[in-house]
Amino acid sequence: MTEPTVALPTRPVLTAPRDPRPGVAGVEPIELAALLSAMGEPAFRARQVSDAVWRSEAASWDAVTTLGLPLRAGLAERLRFDTVAETDLRLADDEATEKALHRLPDGRLVESVLMHYPARGERRERNTLCISSQAGCAVGCPFCATGELGFERDLGVAEIVDQVRHARRRLVSRGRHLTNLVFMGMGEPLLNLDAVIGAARVLTDADRFGLGARHLTISTSGVVPGIERLTALSPQWTLAVSLHAARDALRDLLVPLNRRWPVRAVVAAAAGYAAATGRRVSYEYVMIDGLNDTPADADALARLLVGTGSHVNCIPMNPVAHTPWVASRPERIEAFAGRLRTSGIGVTIRRNRGQEVGAACGQLAAEKSAEPAAAAVARRRERLVTASAAALAGERSLEPAPPGLPGVFPRPVITRTAPRAAARPATRPIAHPDRRPVARRLPPRPPRRASH
Ligand code: SAH
Ligand code: SF4
Repeated sequence: MTEPTVALPTRPVLTAPRDPRPGVAGVEPIELAALLSAMGEPAFRARQVSDAVWRSEAASWDAVTTLGLPLRAGLAERLRFDTVAETDLRLADDEATEKALHRLPDGRLVESVLMHYPARGERRERNTLCISSQAGCAVGCPFCATGELGFERDLGVAEIVDQVRHARRRLVSRGRHLTNLVFMGMGEPLLNLDAVIGAARVLTDADRFGLGARHLTISTSGVVPGIERLTALSPQWTLAVSLHAARDALRDLLVPLNRRWPVRAVVAAAAGYAAATGRRVSYEYVMIDGLNDTPADADALARLLVGTGSHVNCIPMNPVAHTPWVASRPERIEAFAGRLRTSGIGVTIRRNRGQEVGAACGQLAAEKSAEPAAAAVARRRERLVTASAAALAGERSLEPAPPGLPGVFPRPVITRTAPRAAARPATRPIAHPDRRPVARRLPPRPPRRASH
């Protein structure tokens, strides 16, 4: 194996400028051919370079021995062979789960998780890689370690694809190959949609990475215009929607984007995707003890999804620091799944992978982050307990949708004073609300209204 496995510093020092050279994995074949031609190289070089990038085990231009030294040096001046600077690997589940923490040259940390499922009965071996689309995330789901980090920046096409090339090299060294790819790592893919679509095209292009389109899944917390944009492209990729609650009051808390695009609008957009593509949509439902796992929640979910032909994945919440919540007990998950099945909805109960290496999205990067002060953690837990009680009483959140949603979408209509972070320049990280002083986190609440 050629990849470096190094201990990373405790927190990225964000002083390094971004490397201006594009990553070769994000360069279109036609652009690569034009570049090589401008360098005075014959046409067949484009194929040699492409083979080195997509088919070889080389991890740097230096290792591409099919090209002469001067050409390797010329390419290295113009293009990065790999946009990842360092990778720290951790193994769990008897080495069936491998978590990679990638450090980008500007110091940002992103994660990917490789999961091995051995062949069983009729079922062939699967190797599934979960990749990140952003460093941090602006959505701020409170049970998610990435959400707590806040938004740092979008990844480029090559930075997304290079997580896959890293995993491919590790797999090849063990005689395995990648069978499935899921955008379920750090970040909200539909808030970095241009790069995600670009990467998905590279990864499913037979002349480049060559993964079957049906083996690629994009997960979203419910960015309705993004789902509609994907629907217009009508790809064969699978769409997964992170629902976690069928009732708006609870979903406002668990997935703050719900305050912008409520649950019915999300499910309607996903149904549009299913109709246009013929692909079954799957719904992710993280199960939190006593919060979203009651019979009433199961019935509300059944009413919402009945007749849509979609599938629900129930996932026990992975323990993350700084929340007052724990995973639902197995018997509660079984009962929840049973109620859905009775309504004719397909359900899979997922087991947690790699808990000992913090395999929920963003956990490893969060570990490297400075630990917030104990008082801030206590306030965050207290706020979540209060908000949970309000949500369980059916009260819609009056907090605004996450501020500063980046990308092509219009900013959410905020009827109340927006937190100050919304006015910051886009280049600065958007802090999670819980990392702001309490006075700004908790503006006075106007009278509450009930959801249903
Ligand atoms: N932002 C996208 C994709 C990345 S998150 C989305 O939310 O869909 C990928 C999945 O990991 C989501 O379904 C998310 O809800 C889930 N997840 C996040 N934190 C988790 C935790 N603590 N336990 C279990 N699943 C978690
Ligand atoms: Fe972002 Fe997804 Fe985590 Fe929510 S669950 S904060 S959308 S990464």
